Amino acid sequence: MSTPGDTRTVVRALATNYIQEALEILQRTTKKRLRFDELILSGRLSSTMGLANYRMVGNRYYYTITISSKIFKRDSIALKETCYHEVAHLADWQIYRKWGHGDTWCRLMRKLGLEPKVYIEPEEYVEAGYISVDERPIS
Ligand SMILES: [Zn+2]
Repeated sequence: MSTPGDTRTVVRALATNYIQEALEILQRTTKKRLRFDELILSGRLSSTMGLANYRMVGNRYYYTITISSKIFKRDSIALKETCYHEVAHLADWQIYRKWGHGDTWCRLMRKLGLEPKVYIEPEEYVEAGYISVDERPIS
């Protein structure tokens, strides 16, 4: 039997790999150096599956991605796509100073081999281990 602690460790390791993978693809295809500082697993985040953020720390930006450990319990396409989606937000900001689901973000998503969609399909929710079939935005 796996405990909640084990599950979080697994999700953290998977998300770390997907984020790294997405950063490498975008660095290679855009020829820009991209930064990422911290992965946060949140048991409270349930309105969205993931969240990208940046804030000023001293004189530089500090980049974080939060992944919902309430929604993600195991490996899934949805986990990978959420990580890629959030990395595209951080890259969009770092390269174009844009934030949101605009043209440049869509272009970055295509470089990652994904359709630039904001909502995931109900089937993917089930796959993610989430019981609700409500559409929820990937933030
Ligand atoms: Zn988004």
